[in-house]
Amino acid sequence: MHTLRLILGDQLNHKHSWFQKVDNNVTYIIAEMKQETDYVKHHIQKIVAFFCAMRNFSRELTQKGHRVIYLKINDPKNPQDLTKVIQYGIDRANATKFEYLLPDEYRLDLQLNNTCKSIKLQTEVFDTEHFYTSRYEVKNFFANKKSLIMESFYRMMRKKHHIMVNSGQPEGGKWNFDQSNRKKWNGEPEIPHERGFRKDVSSIFDDIEQVDINYFGEIDPTNFNWPTSRSDSLSVLNYFVQNFLVHFGDFQDAMHTDQHFLFHSRLSFAMNSKMISPKEVIDKVLDYYYNHTDAIHISQVEGFIRQILGWREYMRGIYWKEMPNYANLNKLENSNKLPDFFWTADTKMNCLRHSIKQSLNEAYAHHIQRLMITGNYALLTMTDPDEVDAWYLGIYIDAIEWVEITNTRGMSQFADGGIVGTKPYVSSANYINKMSNYCKGCHYSHTKKLGENACPFNALYWNFLDEKRNHFENNNRMAMMMNLLNKKNKRELEDLKTRAREIIEHPERF
Ligand SMILES: Cc1cc2nc3c(=O)[nH]c(=O)nc-3n(C[C@H](O)[C@H](O)[C@H](O)COP(=O)(O)OP(=O)(O)OC[C@H]3O[C@@H](n4cnc5c(N)ncnc54)[C@H](O)[C@@H]3O)c2cc1C
Ligand code: SF4
Repeated sequence: MHTLRLILGDQLNHKHSWFQKVDNNVTYIIAEMKQETDYVKHHIQKIVAFFCAMRNFSRELTQKGHRVIYLKINDPKNPQDLTKVIQYGIDRANATKFEYLLPDEYRLDLQLNNTCKSIKLQTEVFDTEHFYTSRYEVKNFFANKKSLIMESFYRMMRKKHHIMVNSGQPEGGKWNFDQSNRKKWNGEPEIPHERGFRKDVSSIFDDIEQVDINYFGEIDPTNFNWPTSRSDSLSVLNYFVQNFLVHFGDFQDAMHTDQHFLFHSRLSFAMNSKMISPKEVIDKVLDYYYNHTDAIHISQVEGFIRQILGWREYMRGIYWKEMPNYANLNKLENSNKLPDFFWTADTKMNCLRHSIKQSLNEAYAHHIQRLMITGNYALLTMTDPDEVDAWYLGIYIDAIEWVEITNTRGMSQFADGGIVGTKPYVSSANYINKMSNYCKGCHYSHTKKLGENACPFNALYWNFLDEKRNHFENNNRMAMMMNLLNKKNKRELEDLKTRAREIIEHPERF
């Protein structure tokens, strides 16, 4: 009996039990496919990063003695479609059995289920051995509970995995140090250089250029700056704990025109492609912290661990709990077009120009840029969540649907009506000015609500609350905002709404 095993581009888990023993009766198949580059328009760096990581992974398996069929994107034999790739592998390896790892995306799960029915071979599916939780653990945890609040899941995870917990109580006396994680960065403390890679990925880029892929974004193929192997990933992690962890929590919400990464880890691609596991990341962070408790405060560590043990596992669980319906939710009934400047960064609004330009150049923006700049603007302008999702799924190096859609449609756009978040993340210029230096160099004045140089976020904010008031009137967490709205002078509100309409109808003027 010979077995064909499929490895998808986001299943590059070196530590998986599959790879611990060389078996001549097993052939692995890994394929770069147009099916995966074309389901949405992608940033070129995202395509290159995946192909580069896949090629490195395949090389390492081959070096260890495993049999691997690798199909490059420009290989004339490449069928470019997953079902056909599997059939090609079965024929070439003369396989009598087909095995695959549980995919993390609903569309691939469906496709693989259907493929298994059609190929008429014995098939078996295995866990990816990556996450802390199983696919339906979050669903089971919240069964019969009224609210799906992340915090309760996070506390359970801390206790279950014995992470910063003593006798059932949180270390440092608190489960959550979020309140102390809100500092603006004003040039200090100094930010160490990022852990750069500067790789030459020209050969991969040339292969992509030979086939007809409709990508966007910038790339310098001789100077590629993302971790694309296991050793790269481990070195990003080591560099993070030694240099950035000490200030991670304090400045995780800060934004700055000159500093794109601040104290963020840039580990999302390495983790989402599974080159490194969340447990390895958390174990390393804790190990470093416990050896440096004199230098690192627990709030920095808790802030980081919450993102991975809490949010990342939670979002995956919500995805599998709510799909496929989640992908169509539009509870606020938003239908406006995403402005063209999301693809060009050609806008006078400094916060948007910087966040979008950085995303186009680097395929990266950190969480608050995604949530409170681009996401905030898209929601305030009542943009169709399908368009917003497609943009986020295409542009970011780490965007895979299970974590993209729950963050975008859920946390950012409130299109799920409150499954992920209890209130929409919207703000006027006030918050942006508090957390960044964007407003300082802006064409618009963050303090002005009306007039030609008034910040567009201000009019949009009040207009949004007014337009969507029927959705929020019974939401306790919105009570303060709705009270302020209700106290607004009628004439002023009308003027704000007129300006908001102009911004929404003519984004090119702003
Ligand atoms: C609108 C929107 C879309 C997003 N899309 C994605 C996406 O497609 N892929 C993705 O991995 N993250 C996404 N995020 C979450 C977050 O922005 C990124 O994980 C983070 O910016 C990656 O950079 P980093 O590795 O430097 O993260 P750090 O700030 O260093 O955080 C450490 C890790 O925590 C995890 N994490 C942090 N926040 C979240 C979160 N909200 N949900 C899940 N994991 C989290 C990530 O794995 C990240 O690598 C999105 C957030 C928003 C608001
Ligand atoms: S003034 Fe308004 S548009 Fe300009 S940077 Fe500040 S929030 Fe953004």
